[in-house]
Amino acid sequence: MYDVLAINLGGTSIKWGCPARGADFPIATMPSPKSPAELTAVLTRIRSDVARPASAVALGFPGPIAAGTTLSQAPTLWPGVDLHRFDLLATLRSVFPDAGLHVINDVSAYGAFLLARGLRDFCVLNIGSGIGSKIYVEGAEVNGPRGRGGEIGHWRDAGAPADLRCDCGGTGHVGAVSSGRGVQRFAALRASQAPERFRASLLGGRRPIDLTAEEVAAAVRAGDGFALDILAEAMLPLARATALLHVALGCERYVLVGGFAEAVGDALPRLLARGAAAHCWDSGHDWGQAFEVLRDEVRTSLLGLHHHALTRRDLTLCA
Ligand SMILES: [Zn+2]
Repeated sequence: MYDVLAINLGGTSIKWGCPARGADFPIATMPSPKSPAELTAVLTRIRSDVARPASAVALGFPGPIAAGTTLSQAPTLWPGVDLHRFDLLATLRSVFPDAGLHVINDVSAYGAFLLARGLRDFCVLNIGSGIGSKIYVEGAEVNGPRGRGGEIGHWRDAGAPADLRCDCGGTGHVGAVSSGRGVQRFAALRASQAPERFRASLLGGRRPIDLTAEEVAAAVRAGDGFALDILAEAMLPLARATALLHVALGCERYVLVGGFAEAVGDALPRLLARGAAAHCWDSGHDWGQAFEVLRDEVRTSLLGLHHHALTRRDLTLCA
């Protein structure tokens, strides 16, 4: 059996499991390493958690990755750290000396899962700590000659509040307002600007600065009007970006993944569809069917990493 240890390294937590060990394979999690230097210790802990050595290790990394090149940055994981000299494969090799190694972008892991399910033309939008994107055209991932594609979270949107800073350090970026952390910052901003509405909402009683993305998501699920208004406004930069992908590439299907997307649930496709439809011409596309939330997103990403390793059994570092 080709037993793949799949590891999803996120901005906040690292999750792992071995999908070949059964449909309901256990998933473990711990906080993400706070620096590249801490990664070895975290991987060693994961190795000891997995009862028997895996044939391969497939890791999803939250930053741009291009075939034959080094990493560059991972703003949601290690803000401000230059990764050009960080050898991720060597770090993995030091902990897993006998395993086949695969490193792909974390959003590509969801893409691999959807490709295995037969999807051919779609966009994966990861709404977690930050915003990631991957476009697939006729079953192929499109990232450009240097692997720079898939980062619409760092597109500067003129409507994004200039006060909010993206994890990459930039301002006005889609990820600064439409990501989980962005919604958290935006909710704090709106709460301080509209204190009476804030106090009357389900979020009231907290200091704006202490609000979490999880609390905003829970208030949205409970139908709180203030939280829904915050979410609708926070999603507009991302909705505009998806409208641009539609008119530029003809993309019609957007699959929403990531912890925040799953936490918010059904309101998200509706709000994004409304925002996207308002920001491009009417070509007859049914925006009401364009967005969907992929459930069980952690298990899905680990299954995608597993599928990638099964189909590319060589040692790889690819987009
Ligand atoms: Zn950014």
